[in-house]
Amino acid sequence: MLRALSRVLAPDLKVRSSADLGQIRGQLRLFGLFALTILLPGLLLAAVGVGSIQGEELALWDEVGRRAELAADTVILQTELSFSSFEDNTRQRLESGRSPVDALGELSPYLLVAFRVDESGRVAAPFNRQRGDAVRDHSLLLSEAWREAAELEQHSPLEGAAAFHDIEGEARGLQAKGMARFAEARALIRAGRRPLAEQLLADVVADYGAVRDLYGFRLGDLARLRRGELLLDREPEIGAGSLIALVEELLGDRWTIGVGGEPAVAARALELLEDTAPKDWLASARGRLDEKARLLYWASQVEDDLDLITAGGLALRVAPASFSYQATHKTLWATAWWSEDLYAFALDGNAVLEHIDQLAQQSVKVDAELSAIVVAPEGSLPPKVLARRTLAPWLPGWSLAMVPSDPEDLTRRQLSLRLQRVVIIALSVLMILMGGFLTVRLVNRQLETAREKTDFAANVSHELRSPITQIRLKGEALQFGLVFDEEDLQKHYDAIVRESERLSRLVDNVLDFASIEQGAKSYVFRPVDIGETVRAAVEAARYSMETRGMVMDIDLPPFMPVVMHDPEAIGQVMQNLISNAAKYGKEGGWIGVKGRIMPEGVEIMVSDRGIGIPPDEVDQIFERFYRSKDPDARRKKGTGIGLTIVRYIVEAHNGNIRVNSTLGQGTTFTIHFPLRPPGPTT
Ligand code: ADP
Repeated sequence: MLRALSRVLAPDLKVRSSADLGQIRGQLRLFGLFALTILLPGLLLAAVGVGSIQGEELALWDEVGRRAELAADTVILQTELSFSSFEDNTRQRLESGRSPVDALGELSPYLLVAFRVDESGRVAAPFNRQRGDAVRDHSLLLSEAWREAAELEQHSPLEGAAAFHDIEGEARGLQAKGMARFAEARALIRAGRRPLAEQLLADVVADYGAVRDLYGFRLGDLARLRRGELLLDREPEIGAGSLIALVEELLGDRWTIGVGGEPAVAARALELLEDTAPKDWLASARGRLDEKARLLYWASQVEDDLDLITAGGLALRVAPASFSYQATHKTLWATAWWSEDLYAFALDGNAVLEHIDQLAQQSVKVDAELSAIVVAPEGSLPPKVLARRTLAPWLPGWSLAMVPSDPEDLTRRQLSLRLQRVVIIALSVLMILMGGFLTVRLVNRQLETAREKTDFAANVSHELRSPITQIRLKGEALQFGLVFDEEDLQKHYDAIVRESERLSRLVDNVLDFASIEQGAKSYVFRPVDIGETVRAAVEAARYSMETRGMVMDIDLPPFMPVVMHDPEAIGQVMQNLISNAAKYGKEGGWIGVKGRIMPEGVEIMVSDRGIGIPPDEVDQIFERFYRSKDPDARRKKGTGIGLTIVRYIVEAHNGNIRVNSTLGQGTTFTIHFPLRPPGPTT
């Protein structure tokens, strides 16, 4: 298990001994610490982050929703204010005993007309309601006698007057009689018989004053108007007085809904009085007439609703002056009880809705994300409603809805917010994981280097021990005269020389490596035939190699170029490569050293037919302390610094080194020196 884990965390680490296992334990401790202090909090933070995304998304809608609620509340409050101001004004009027059915502008700008309805359901103010159709006997106007009389009036007014007189005598019913007498008076005026006509008009007033003609005019009003007009010619002051009295009387009267005689007569009288009546009075009378006529107009417009509203109001007799509302297709009704009467107020429903809509639009004017809509009772709502308020009790069924102006934009913002957060969290987690992974790798490297250094020290001591032992043994044998045979003697001398060479090579390598590591190594470049240097190195090794049964094959062109180099250092390079070739070559194997002159430099190759290098290690063999994992190579003693020194020296000469190796067949190291190496010293 430890091994498996270590393979994942530190593929470079090779488990070979209990020390390695110790290292793995250390590594696991490190990983545990890392998991506890960085990974776990990191992942917890990420989890909290993911959780907060949803919160933020909701917050986005919440925020808009809150503003929508606020805007809706504002509109409802303002609406309530305008309705309660109408109700309060009306209540004050009722309490103070003033009628609330006139001067409506003071109560609410939206009032069209108001009615007082008595307990029995009859409209008591400000107008009368016509009960059934008025008597309209058109047969009179269509009769032969009337037609003839009217014709005579045109050509011979006196005869016309007599004809009308006859009609009055024969006619049945007050309307026909009255109309005939009025027509007689009219004909007499035309005939120039004014005093008689005036008398007749006075009679009309006395006898038929309250009778209405076919057009809904009261005959008394028409007669007084005509008389006043005549008097105005004759005695302007008396005429004006009587017309003013007529107008005042008409304005004081309670008119009848659907009958337009009184306002028309009053309007005509005012026209006649234009030049005679006092200006102030004229203006006031005109104002009062307009107001009353307007109310009459609206009363006739909403009259159809009256039965329904009064029936409802009478049935629903609630607390005094408490208002209830009902919308018909014509208007918006407000009803309230006071004392024994029911008051019905017709409000302009469209204007009220328009006012509420204006308030709604105003409430969202500064908020680009909100839109307000006033929804009709059967109206459909948009899919996303942020806030909704009913407009009851004022407008039953109607409601106010606050919706997002651009719901897609909100959704888009929500999405991009989510994406942003997810990316940030994913990146943070990735960085934490990468950081952790790299830290573990780095620490492993350090541990590995530390282990390599320990290995190196052990290897060096081991390497030192064997030549020293050899030298001591051989020396002692010689010292104590234990070797007699001439040949044996020679062998002992050879061994002492070979082992001391090995010793000095090892010491050279270690010292060189130390100064290379410290950056203190320097070379003395001299213009020397490179062939000579290589040949000298081969010859120095030849004896030792041949005593070990190696065959050394040297193939150098007779003349090699002079190259600026440090012969001693290059000699060391050759020595290292040759001793590696011998070490990793086969027993009694072959070592080839070859030189080649290239267009831009020279190449020196050292080949063997030994165990070769595994392909995946070819790049690593030059690293310091690196020793092959191959068991065949491992069996040979070594320190792992030989090739590091080689590459360092070669590169200090501006050269490079390549390896060509086939596992089990052999290896060739090729060094390339440029013809122009660096300056004399480095
Ligand atoms: P050492 O020989 O002391 O282990 P080196 O730095 O000289 O260290 O070599 C590094 C490694 O390269 C060796 O451990 C060995 O595995 C491999 N190597 C070097 N030369 C040869 C060669 N001629 N044939 C096969 N392997 C070699």
